[in-house]
Amino acid sequence: MALQINAATFTGINGIIINVEVDISKGLPSFNIVGLADTSVKESKERVRSAIINSGFKFPVNRITINLAPADLKKEGALFDLPIAIGILAITNQISIDSIDKYIIAGELSLNGSLKKIKGALSIALKSVEEGINNVIIPTENAKECSMVKNCSIFPFDNLSQVVNYFQYKDSMPFKYEEIAEVHKSLLDFKDIIGQESSKRAIEVAASGGHNMILFGPPGSGKTMLAKRIPSILPPLNYDEALEVTQIYSVCGKLENNTLIFKRPFRNPHHTSSQIALVGGGAKLIPGEISLAHNGVLFLDEILEFKKSTLEVLRQPLEDRVIKLSKATGNVTYPCNFMLIGSLNPCLCGNYGSNKECVCTEYERKRYLGKLSNPLLDRIDLFSFVNTLNYEELSMKKKSESSIDIAKRVLQAREIQLDRFKNDAIHCNAQMEERHIKKFCELTNESNRIIKNIFNKFQLSTRAYSRILKVSRTIADMHGNNKINPVDIIEATQYRKFVDEKIV
Ligand SMILES: [Zn+2]
Repeated sequence: MALQINAATFTGINGIIINVEVDISKGLPSFNIVGLADTSVKESKERVRSAIINSGFKFPVNRITINLAPADLKKEGALFDLPIAIGILAITNQISIDSIDKYIIAGELSLNGSLKKIKGALSIALKSVEEGINNVIIPTENAKECSMVKNCSIFPFDNLSQVVNYFQYKDSMPFKYEEIAEVHKSLLDFKDIIGQESSKRAIEVAASGGHNMILFGPPGSGKTMLAKRIPSILPPLNYDEALEVTQIYSVCGKLENNTLIFKRPFRNPHHTSSQIALVGGGAKLIPGEISLAHNGVLFLDEILEFKKSTLEVLRQPLEDRVIKLSKATGNVTYPCNFMLIGSLNPCLCGNYGSNKECVCTEYERKRYLGKLSNPLLDRIDLFSFVNTLNYEELSMKKKSESSIDIAKRVLQAREIQLDRFKNDAIHCNAQMEERHIKKFCELTNESNRIIKNIFNKFQLSTRAYSRILKVSRTIADMHGNNKINPVDIIEATQYRKFVDEKIV
């Protein structure tokens, strides 16, 4: 009679429960794994055999067949080593199978029987709870990332013998680990930046509403310094956001310290990065930088140095906040809800608009900025010019505000938005669509008159108009006002000024 063990795998960031069926029969000794197993599952045969023998158990000299069901699903990774080994030990009566169906088992075995860290453990634990199987057996190194899953008992082990002992005596308590959310452990602080008050204000607006932003100005003016400090003023991830971010890092094996991530990600890919590195894909459909930046910041320094074709692929994910990757063997969808921050020089020599002389012709400047297509520019809510400081500003002794103080205000503005959108599937003003704008961007009479004037004077596109309303909504939230006032609109319009003082 065949025996069943609950195992699991994942696709994208979603866990999937797999049934490992073990059958043993008389006949010539053989060991087969069926169910569309890829090469790594086949290699698992050798690891399972050695691990069982080296842990002091007997490997049966019979005909063993393992079926991984459902069969039509592509299964990758070495997650099935442990459930297969447990299955073989159970069917040969070397282990008690009492209540084995109440556990999901996942783990990679090394030849000596020890358990190695797996990818996607958090997704597996979350899926287990969803399926009502609330006990999960995993390698010790994966315990911390799963420790925060509600209603789930995690049983971490170092090696095969420990798992066998556990089933014999049930003497282990579920793993407990109190995660301490890191609060502002970032070493970078806005208080280290002298001056640049207008850019700091623009950044605070962007952070408050989750808006995409471009910082432009001459080289050395501090654009990168400013951008790198943005995570220090963003609110910490909430529980659900932290789970999402950790799942992404877990499935691609990028989880540092093996613990849940509570800090908003800040990704800073180099301009030579390939399209796959940026959006994800490749043979294994792994997540790219845009997904690693999920719920955080994607910073493209010197954005014009990126290939135009690479920048263009950002358009769809910026709009949809998810990316669908496909190849012959299947599709995966990864979340990628990030704040895009770009930096660029205003022209080839870098000095245009600054206090130094620009030596570029108008044609050169236009060609240089042409790399940013209009559809991409349309997805940017704020532009901020970062000038080099003059002597008076540099020698000012005035202390700059610290990130902690700015973060408090950002959090306040974000809380207003969370409350506003509690019945809509969005979290912040930047995510508003037309219907939200209609519903939530209420203007005073005076504001109505002003925005009409601005619309006609600058011949705004509808998109630019919506962007101004969204940013105005954020500024009004920062002021704690329900209705959008003229000052909010005027400030928001300032942030549409790109190179040449042109309103885009
Ligand atoms: Zn120039």
